[in-house]
Amino acid sequence: MSGIRTDLSGQVAIVTGSTSGIGAAMADALAENGAHIVLNGLGDAQEIETLRASLAEKHGVEVRYHGANMLKPDEISDLVTSTEEAFGRLDILMNNAGIQHVAPVDEFPEDKWDAILGINLTSVFHAAKAAVPIMKRQGKGRIVNLASAHGLVASPFKSAYVAAKHGVMGFTKSLALEVAEQGITCNAICPGYVKTPLVENQIGDTARARGISEEEVVRDVLLAAQPTKQFVTYEQLAGALLYLVSDAGANMNGSWISVDGGWTAK
Ligand code: NAD
Repeated sequence: MSGIRTDLSGQVAIVTGSTSGIGAAMADALAENGAHIVLNGLGDAQEIETLRASLAEKHGVEVRYHGANMLKPDEISDLVTSTEEAFGRLDILMNNAGIQHVAPVDEFPEDKWDAILGINLTSVFHAAKAAVPIMKRQGKGRIVNLASAHGLVASPFKSAYVAAKHGVMGFTKSLALEVAEQGITCNAICPGYVKTPLVENQIGDTARARGISEEEVVRDVLLAAQPTKQFVTYEQLAGALLYLVSDAGANMNGSWISVDGGWTAK
């Protein structure tokens, strides 16, 4: 998919939230470069099996699926420990699962706040907590957190998401300092807008919250923030991910790569 090559043969990667969007594309890029993959995420069982089988067939690697709900600590822990049991190692943990809800703070549903903080932030802690002991035993590991431009700057009506993604950035730095001498790195990727189901769904919500049309949301809200006026592509994100997990990325730690068309330069 990405066309960018780095040799990950024999390595094992978990990508949370990889049944759709960015996660599915990043799993594809890692598999294309030789890594065995554990997919995770919600969705129709038959569609997930089709995705799993097609990745394995296309790239000649082993691809498993674990249905851990990122709101359930025990299931997240099992995702990680069962991966080590199955493959005997874990080289790459990509914390990618995420959801969004757009509404003013004074109307923000409390259950949506809890779900966004749980899936977008707290699951990152639980997955890393389970993965770090395995990576310490190996003396090697790469943790990549899919944060957002909203981990660095804010937008109105996205309070839970912005809070969670800023939290991911803080967690990324803190964990990086803890594991720096053990061959483990922890970094974030901060994309601008990528045209995935998550973004498609929020176009309508943003239109309602701001009282404007969906076309105006795309032009004047989403891509207004992105100086290139182009959605970020999966290939551009795969390039950042493959750098972070490659040997060249070994001294990149507690940091992030912004792939946002210049949004956070403003
Ligand atoms: P998406 O909706 O296409 O995919 C989200 C994935 O998370 C799906 O596989 C879904 O099943 C999974 N997921 C959701 N709730 C889950 C749960 N409780 N347990 C397990 N899995 C769960 O969205 P996307 O746009 O590909 O987003 C992926 C990540 O990228 C998110 O963290 C998002 O915040 C971030 N991000 C997206 C954009 C963008 O423009 N699309 C920009 C910046 C950051």
